This record gives sequence, C-alpha cells and structure tokens, in this order.
Amino acid sequence: MGEPAGKSNVIQLAPPTFSVEEELNRIRKKYDDLCQQMDEILMETMERSNRIIMESEIANLIMNQVFNASNDGIWAIDKSFRVIRVNKKMIDIIQKPVNEVIGGKCFELFQEHCRSKENCPMERIFKGERMVEQEKTLTFGSEKEVPFMVTSTPLLSLDQSIIGMVETFADITERKNAERVLQLANRELERLATEDALTKLSNRRRFDEYLELEWRRQSRAGGQISLIMSDVDFFKHYNDKYGHQAGDACLKAVADAIRKKVGRPGDLIARYGGEEFAIVMPETDIKGALKVAENIRQELTKQNLPHPESAAAPYVTISCGIASMFPDGTNKPQTLIERADQGLYRAKQQGRNRIIIFQD
Ligand code: GH3
Ligand code: MG
Ligand code: MG
Repeated sequence: MGEPAGKSNVIQLAPPTFSVEEELNRIRKKYDDLCQQMDEILMETMERSNRIIMESEIANLIMNQVFNASNDGIWAIDKSFRVIRVNKKMIDIIQKPVNEVIGGKCFELFQEHCRSKENCPMERIFKGERMVEQEKTLTFGSEKEVPFMVTSTPLLSLDQSIIGMVETFADITERKNAERVLQLANRELERLATEDALTKLSNRRRFDEYLELEWRRQSRAGGQISLIMSDVDFFKHYNDKYGHQAGDACLKAVADAIRKKVGRPGDLIARYGGEEFAIVMPETDIKGALKVAENIRQELTKQNLPHPESAAAPYVTISCGIASMFPDGTNKPQTLIERADQGLYRAKQQGRNRIIIFQD
C-alpha cells in the first residue's frame, strides 16, 4: 500500500509553548540539586566510615594495650595451629622474635606445649569443651623449669563458629612453692599429732587409730592381732633417786630397746602412757608375741641400766602382759587392751620383770 495521495512526510511541529532557555535552567538546577544531594550523601558516608575506622583503631589500640599489659602470656591460634596474635609476655616466655612466632605453628614453637594428640587443647575445644586447663612445666635454657597453668578457650568468629583458640600462660611458680610449703607443714603437723615428743614413738592417739584400723582390716582378712602392754618396774623409785631428767633419758633408752626388737612392717610401738609402752602386732600369734616380749626383756637385761631401788632386779626392767584375738566384727579392740592389761597386772603381782599371757 502506498502513501495517500497529496499527504507529505514532513511532520509539522507546533511552536514550543515554553522557553528552551527556561527548560535548560530548570534541568541545570535539578542537576545541581542532585549533585549537592550526592555530595551530602558522600560526605555523610565518608564521615561514617571514617568514624568506624577510628573507632576500630581505638578499639584495637585499647585491646593491644590490655593484651600487652597482661602479666600472663597470651596468644591466639587458628585451627591450623598457626599463631595469629601474641602478646609481649608470651614473646618473653617463648624467647623467639615476634616475626618468627606469628605464623609459626604452636607445637613447633616449643615442644612441651603438646605431648599427645588426646591432650591437645585444640582437639578438645573442637570436640566441644569450653575451657581446657593444663599444668605444664616449660624448660628455659638448659635447666630452668617453670610451671605454668595454660588455659585454652575457643576463638570465635562473627557467626560464633570456632576458628581456633586463645591460650593464656600463667606462671604458677609461687603457687607451687606455697603448695609445697603447705604440704611439708601438713606432714610435719601430722607427725607432731601422732608422735610422742620424748621417745619419737607413736603416741596414744596414733595407737588408738592404728589398732582400730588393723581391727577392721583383720576382721576382713581373718587374721589375728597380738598386743603387748608393758610397764617399767618401780619407775617412781627411779625418778626419786635420779631425778626427772634422768627418768626421761631412761624412758628413751627403754623405747630404743623396744625399737631394736620390733621389726615387722605392720608392727606399731606406742608410748601408751607415762612409763607404759604398747606394741600392736597384726598377723602375729601369741607365740610370736611372747618371743618379741622376751627379746625386749633380754635386751633390757643386756643394756643393764642401773636401778638400785628396784626390788625386781638391780637394773631397769619391764613387766609385760600379752593377749591375742581374732577380730570378727562382733568383738572390739578395747577387749584386747583389757586382756593384755590383765596380763600386765598379773606380771606385776607375781614379782615384775616377767611376761604373762592373758588367760580367761
Ligand atoms: P610399778 O612397778 O608398779 O609399775 O611401779 P612404778 O613406780 O613404775 O609405777 P607408778 O605408777 O607408781 O609410777 C610411775 C612413775 O612413772 C610415776 C611418774 O613420775 C613416772 N613417769 C611417768 N611419766 C614420766 C615421764 O614422762 N618422765 C619421767 N621422768 N617419769 C615419768
Ligand atoms: Mg605405770
Ligand atoms: Mg611402772
């Protein structure tokens, strides 16, 4: 189809109803306004980002100061065991330059750090532990050993996933020394509480405790316990003649004689009272106890400590009562003491310097 006859292709524009100049000015103004708005947005964004950078730098500065002010060594390690941050104290502990430490693997920086895979704090943290505390002794130079408490905690990312761990190394030398002193003091206290000051034998408290303990043990094992109760003869006369100090020396000599003749690991010699000594002998029958008592009596004869005021012998002697029982859960240690005491009483009655076995 062709063009309709008599119609031209030229479009006739109506004369503009506005001034081009004005329109240009309007567009220019709009453009200027937009530019100004963009400048303002840009300025605001830059200010905000500068503020964020400043704040993060300040936070970092503070963090570094806190980090380095710590008296404990601190480092952060990523999950491939590489050190990503370290404080001054930690550098002192490791004794290596910072650039060698950063990026280095923790277990290569010092060997004592990891002894076994099961004990590796990183493994344990990735298995879910929130804090791992381990005591480690680090060696410095050829001999100096320093004990540390190493505390490992998870290093978390923004989404709270574990990306490594933070470890603090606290020198616990002072605590360890204090513990050692306390342990020694406790041991000394225990010794003082159970030892007789004059003879260094066990005291009455220890005797009661030990007999009770052995009673229970033998009632389970089905063994017997023998007891020797001994008493120095005419000791009052000895004190009266030689004085109290000489009396004390005599008691020490009697204690030594007993010590010499009582040797089994389970035996316990105690100063039961003033001039009375008791010997507990687990797993020993009456024959064995009699032999021990006789050996002590003979040892005193051999020692021959002069005692002219004694009606039993011209030297220091003892009288002994012995008894033996099988603990069985129904009987009591007190009965054994009473029986040995009865034997001792009879030994005194029958002239002293002798041993009497308890008989019903
Ligand atoms: P017996 O043969 O009947 O046992 O007569 P004894 O004189 O030994 O018994 P008695 O119980 O009459 O006297 C015990 C004495 O032991 C009295 C006390 O002065 C003395 N004695 C007790 N403990 C000590 C001590 O620790 N040191 C000294 N030097 N003497 C003590
Ligand atoms: Mg007595
Ligand atoms: Mg006596």
